[in-house]
Amino acid sequence: MNTTDKTFSFELFPPKTEKGIANLRQTVTTLNHRNPAFFSVTYGAGGSTQSNTFATVDWISDQNIAVAPHLSCIGSTRDELIAILDRYAAQGIHRIVALRGDLPSGAGAGSMGDLNHANELVELIRETHGSTFHIEVAAYPEMHPQAASFTRDLDNFQRKAEAGADSAITQYFYNADAYFAFVDSCRTRAIEIPIVPGIMPITNFSNLVRFSDACGAEIPRWLRKRLEAYGDDTTSIAALGTEVVTALCARLLEGGAPGLHFYTMNQAGPTLTVWDNLGLSTPS
Ligand code: FAD
Repeated sequence: MNTTDKTFSFELFPPKTEKGIANLRQTVTTLNHRNPAFFSVTYGAGGSTQSNTFATVDWISDQNIAVAPHLSCIGSTRDELIAILDRYAAQGIHRIVALRGDLPSGAGAGSMGDLNHANELVELIRETHGSTFHIEVAAYPEMHPQAASFTRDLDNFQRKAEAGADSAITQYFYNADAYFAFVDSCRTRAIEIPIVPGIMPITNFSNLVRFSDACGAEIPRWLRKRLEAYGDDTTSIAALGTEVVTALCARLLEGGAPGLHFYTMNQAGPTLTVWDNLGLSTPS
């Protein structure tokens, strides 16, 4: 498949243990042979997970590998957010995934912070750092779970684009039509930024159900039933998952998607299997 004009990227989460750190470093080293445009690193609202993000971003940046830290605004003051942006700018980081984020359950209303939505974070980044950063934002082809309606969610996505986002990465999905319909709706409104599909390889059924319930991603009934029927047979789950996700990626790329962003869950194997099945070349 000729993919010279497409952008491929890999998402990681910041590990907490020595074992997790060693695994992440091996994963980055392995996946970096595919010359991704960047690795992104997730960021959690509150406490120690933030310092784990900084440590992970620092290590990737020290390897001279392009890294895009996620930054969520919920729970932070403007000054705290600006300090983080200053830190990344000083490190020579040029890409940020700007998010509202979700507060950990149990956090009180007082911990909401100064900004309420991701469009305000995009505005803050542009206001304080001009064009230093390429700003990615989140998109939801199957609608954000808290949105009042698809149209209202699209209004809010448009606010992020108009505030200065350069491109978007979607929540994962297994229904290519939802992605194409979302992109069409954006283009109808003259939202022209690239919208890169987020791809979640399927390796573990119960984890997939848990994540999908939390983030509002739909597992089509036929797929859920087939995966469920395999019970503890993880080999068959992975085989079906690979087949389904490879076909999804092929359809997305052939239909004009501007690239793919893999939610690697810090594992190189499942993403590389899909990559190799697709016959993706490695950009130089
Ligand atoms: P927003 O764009 O602010 O939207 C949130 C909700 O508010 C939507 O329902 C929207 O319709 C509505 N809304 C938006 N703007 C307005 C407005 N101005 N007025 C009224 N309503 C509005 N979470 C993390 O905590 N850390 C991460 O690292 C992380 N990485 C992610 C990466 C990707 C690619 C994606 C798709 C999601 C990620 N998330 C992450 C999850 C994300 O933080 C949650 O989905 C969160 O609930 C919404 O974030 P958002 O940036 O899309 O918010």
